[in-house]
Amino acid sequence: MCRACPRLVGWREEVAGTKRRSFQDQEYWGRPVPAFGADQPRVLIVGLAPAAHGANRTGRMFTGDRSGDWLYAALHRAGLANQPTSVHAGDGLELRGTRITAPVHCAPPANKPTPSERDTCQPWLARELQIVWPGLRAVVVLGAFGWEAFFRTLAAAGIPTPQKVAFAHGAEVDVDGRIVIGCYHVSQQNTFTGRLTEAMLDEVITRAVSVARL
Ligand code: SF4
Repeated sequence: MCRACPRLVGWREEVAGTKRRSFQDQEYWGRPVPAFGADQPRVLIVGLAPAAHGANRTGRMFTGDRSGDWLYAALHRAGLANQPTSVHAGDGLELRGTRITAPVHCAPPANKPTPSERDTCQPWLARELQIVWPGLRAVVVLGAFGWEAFFRTLAAAGIPTPQKVAFAHGAEVDVDGRIVIGCYHVSQQNTFTGRLTEAMLDEVITRAVSVARL
């Protein structure tokens, strides 16, 4: 098991030990959270990092918190998930042609990994991109951190890197024949404030589905 980031290892394990009161009876995952979904996806979704009491608790990306509620409901509306909710790793959720990953695989304090933690975790994303790139048609990147990390990782994965484009909701970049789309992150900070609405999220996912012909 990877222990390359001392601060994140400490946090993921501390949270798993202390737990939130409402989850006291549950066993927390407390380890790096692997990508979830199709092995040979046409659509890749890139987030930020596991949430302390979400994926760090359940062991599955975006599972068990409000961000995941938003994301999986949207994927279900678009026909990419067989159910609208993602509650725990054994709930039967399956994705169609879609995979969810993150540039940082361990929960960071305050949901903020440092640039050095991002760079330390980069080889995992680079290897994943090398594996899935041939079949990939669209990439949806949630938030500016993921956007920056994704474009930094392309060179490490041996993929031609385009000229830098600033992150924006709805921004599109052609990368080696694949369409990379920016989307505000599904964090509560964005969804509670209306910065990201269901309609905005649906528009991005629908665009990815159309590009990928799923
Ligand atoms: S964030 Fe990535 S590199 Fe750092 S400990 Fe977790 S899996 Fe390892």
